[in-house]
Amino acid sequence: MKQSKMFIPTLREVPNDADSKSHQLLLKAGMIKQVASGVYSYLPIAKRVLNKIEAIVREEMEAIDGVEILMPALQPSELWSESGRWQSYGAELMRMTDRHGREFALGPTHEEIITSLVRDELKSYKKLPVTLFQIQNKFRDEKRPRFGLLRGREFIMKDAYSFHATEESLDETYQDMYDAYSRIFSRVNLNFRPVIADSGAIGGSHTHEFMALAEIGEDTICYTDESDYAANIEKAEVKYVPNVAHTEEKALEKVHTPGVKTAQQLADLLGKRLDEIVKSMIVKVDDQFIMFLIRGHHELNDVKVKSYFGTETVEMATDEEIQAILGATPGSLGPVGVEKIEIYADNSVQDLNNLSVGANETDYHYVNANLGRDFNVKAFDDFRFILEGEMAADGSGPIKFAEGIEVGQVFKLGTKYSESMNATFLNDQGRAEPMIMGCYGIGVSRTLSAVIEQHHDDKGIIWPTSITPFEIHIITANAKQDTQRELADQLYDAYKRDFEVLYDDRNERAGVKFNDADLIGVPVRIVVGKQAADEIVEVKNRRTGESFEVPVSELEEKIK
Ligand code: ATP
Ligand code: MG
Ligand code: MG
Ligand code: MG
Repeated sequence: MKQSKMFIPTLREVPNDADSKSHQLLLKAGMIKQVASGVYSYLPIAKRVLNKIEAIVREEMEAIDGVEILMPALQPSELWSESGRWQSYGAELMRMTDRHGREFALGPTHEEIITSLVRDELKSYKKLPVTLFQIQNKFRDEKRPRFGLLRGREFIMKDAYSFHATEESLDETYQDMYDAYSRIFSRVNLNFRPVIADSGAIGGSHTHEFMALAEIGEDTICYTDESDYAANIEKAEVKYVPNVAHTEEKALEKVHTPGVKTAQQLADLLGKRLDEIVKSMIVKVDDQFIMFLIRGHHELNDVKVKSYFGTETVEMATDEEIQAILGATPGSLGPVGVEKIEIYADNSVQDLNNLSVGANETDYHYVNANLGRDFNVKAFDDFRFILEGEMAADGSGPIKFAEGIEVGQVFKLGTKYSESMNATFLNDQGRAEPMIMGCYGIGVSRTLSAVIEQHHDDKGIIWPTSITPFEIHIITANAKQDTQRELADQLYDAYKRDFEVLYDDRNERAGVKFNDADLIGVPVRIVVGKQAADEIVEVKNRRTGESFEVPVSELEEKIK
């Protein structure tokens, strides 16, 4: 394609509100244009990349017998009421009313539509299993749309749904999907990890998220270098706190605390006051106070906290009340019981640097623990937390933290939708049973952005060859110069048959054209410049920055 005929509105300056590297580069490279908060037009370069990602997704879905369909974005509320989600989905669901007063949603996901489709058409176990997928715009009224395409309100998703007569059949398809996702994210050159994830409110038994590693990522993942173990922090499991060696005073020390079941017993054993012990179980992380009931302290079941949240003094008598105030799920705090210890939410708690903490090993505690020094702590919603360096659940090695962008998720749904929406099939005995379902999503537009997040330098994007918008970028240094233009025209005509070629034929200054080329990030650049008369051009590799001069006669050999 000739750049003079393209629509690539590159920018010199990054708009102020572009809040991630990929968002900035998508705007600067003229790939997207914002229409409203979280809503974007995809311009030609972006569209070409999306087409390539979608082609890879299609190929891999079809390779595991996925069949493509396209369902409507506009969905009647009746189906959502059947599943119960019209009530439960909340503000993220974009709702609207038609001229007759009927309510609709703009689909954030398609379990309801597909379940109603399949229940009407597939009645026998002989027709199962079946996997259907689509690639389509989804709508979610995200509370905080941000990072450009990473969290939009209208975005492109591949969503697939599978229907089964047996759990074993679901297990098989789930594994096929898992493998297909791994191939897809490898093929688009993402550095990613599949992680064990939380099935949350949707229910269902088993789920993995595919996380592209990137600092901007909104999820924390826990992984080890020693094995494939990786989990979303919400689901991470650890074995015990390793002994952290250091030379400072009051070194972390593991002490034998046989039979200790209460804070009072621990205080007696360590020769401390009870309030010191209890205070040391409360720490401040991310400006919130959480109980340092780290594994091993679970058994200290005589501790009752009177006040530990914010600056308010709240009398809390029961575990339930404490959980309610912390917004924690029942049971997640472990037992917090007993009387009259005043804990105030001020820095004196945080400054205590000789914590006694659980060692996550029966009959052992650590004393003199210093959070900042000994442990890197990440806390999350339900006030569980994980320390960097703790042994991963599989015993393979210490937990490390990384930030990830959720680019995909595979999910065993079970019978949640088939039961509520009455999607049954007749089994081989002729009896009706609810279908067993799986659902599988990939954020296609988010993947595009995640690739840029991982593949760029300070000059612009560096496309992996598998999804590059063009394979070759031909540039005339000076398009007004006849010899250059003629040679470039000739190369363009020759190569556009076998390659996807972008040809910068514009009458712009060479510097402007080179900057744009760096921004757009096509892997191979051919510059037709001063040596055109001698039939010599310059070839440059966008990734390595290497360039060399090549006689036109040897060019094809060199760029293959
Ligand atoms: P998140 O945790 O980031 O909000 P999600 O878990 O709500 O995502 P899913 O319901 O699992 O998302 O949807 C499948 C995929 O769609 C996600 O893995 C993600 O790649 C993509 N996706 C979800 N929400 C958005 C969004 N607002 N913008 C772009 N892509 C999204
Ligand atoms: Mg979400
Ligand atoms: Mg998620
Ligand atoms: Mg998800």
